[in-house]
Amino acid sequence: MGKDYYNILGVQKGAGQEEIKKAFRKKAHKYHPDKANGDEAKFKEINEAYQILGDPKKRGQYDQFGPAFENMQGAGGFGGFRDFSGAANGFNINMDDLGDIFGGIGDIFGFSNGGGHRRSARGRDLQLLVNISFMEAVFGIDKEIMINKQVVCDRCNGNLAEPGTKIETCKICKGTGSTTRVQQTILGNMRVNATCEACGGEGKTYSKLCATCFGKGTVMDKVSLKIKIPAGINNGETIRLTGRGEAGDKGAPAGDLYLKVQVAPKPGFERVGFDVKSAVDISFTQAALGDKIDIETVHGAVKLKVLAGTESGTVYKLRNKGIQRLQASGKGDHLVTVNIKTPRNLNRKQKELLKELNI
Ligand SMILES: [Zn+2]
Ligand SMILES: [Zn+2]
Repeated sequence: MGKDYYNILGVQKGAGQEEIKKAFRKKAHKYHPDKANGDEAKFKEINEAYQILGDPKKRGQYDQFGPAFENMQGAGGFGGFRDFSGAANGFNINMDDLGDIFGGIGDIFGFSNGGGHRRSARGRDLQLLVNISFMEAVFGIDKEIMINKQVVCDRCNGNLAEPGTKIETCKICKGTGSTTRVQQTILGNMRVNATCEACGGEGKTYSKLCATCFGKGTVMDKVSLKIKIPAGINNGETIRLTGRGEAGDKGAPAGDLYLKVQVAPKPGFERVGFDVKSAVDISFTQAALGDKIDIETVHGAVKLKVLAGTESGTVYKLRNKGIQRLQASGKGDHLVTVNIKTPRNLNRKQKELLKELNI
C-alpha cells in the first residue's frame, strides 16, 4: 500500500486546502530538525505528504490513483507515487508554505526566501489519454504516441548561451548566486543572504543568449514516444513515466508524463479485477444430460464440462483463464454463467414427446 498522506498530516480525506496547510505547518513546526525534539525523518515525511496534498492537482491524482501503482515502482520506467515530485530525495520545501514557522522573524528583518542559487522551475507534468482495446489491456501493448512538449533546446543544448559565445562566472557573486550583506536590526547586526541581482541567482552571465530559446533552455517540439502499456492494466488507471514530461527551464529536472488509460469494452466480456465474466446459453437437454462445450476466453476457446443436472444460472470457473495480474505473477479466472434456454415455439411432435417424458 502507498503511504497515507492524509494520516501523516493528521487530516480527514475531505479536508480543505487551508486545513491541510495548517496541519502541515503545525506538524512541520513540531518536528523541524532544528528543534530540540525535532525528528528529521518525520519532518521529511510530513514534507513529502504536503508536496502532494498541498497541490490540488497532485492531490487529485493521488486521491484517484494513489496506491494502485505503488507496486509498479522500478519496473520498466513505471514509478510509484512515493517518488512523486522527488520530494523523498531531500528537503524541497516551499518557504511560503512554512510561513511563520520561525515566528515571522523573516518578515521583520526582510529576509528573502532565497539566497544561493535560484531554483529554476522543474518541467511541467503532462497528462495524456491513451485509448486501447480490451485485449490490448489484457496482454499489454507497445505504442508510439506523438506529444507536444517543451524539450531541451537543440541549439544551445540547454545551456542558454548562443553557440560560440562566452558563459562567464558572475563577477559580483563569484558564481555562488547570492550576496551577503550586513543589516542592522534591533537585535544587532545580522548577515543577510540575498539573491545576486547581477545574475539573478544563476552564478553565470552570458555575453549572448541563444537565438532559438532566448535563454530559456527549452523549446516547444512535437516528439514521438514509445510507450509500453503493461499486461493487466485496467480502464481508468494511470501510468507514470518519470522524467518524460516537459523539460525544465535552465537545466532543471523534467516533469513526469502521466498516461491515463482508457480501455474500450468488449461485447460479451465483463472484467472484474483480473477475472473475466461471460455467459453462455445451453439447451435443456445439455443441462439435463451434461455436455462438453466451447467457451470463448481471452486466451481462446476452452472446453467446459457442463455437468449433468446443471441448473440455470450456475457459474463455472475456468481457472487461470482470466487476465494477467498487473506487475505480478498469476492470472485471474474466467467465470462463465450457464443459462438454460427454455424451449419455445415447440411443434406438435415436440410437445407430445415432452409430455411423454413428463420431467
Ligand atoms: Zn537555446
Ligand atoms: Zn551573481
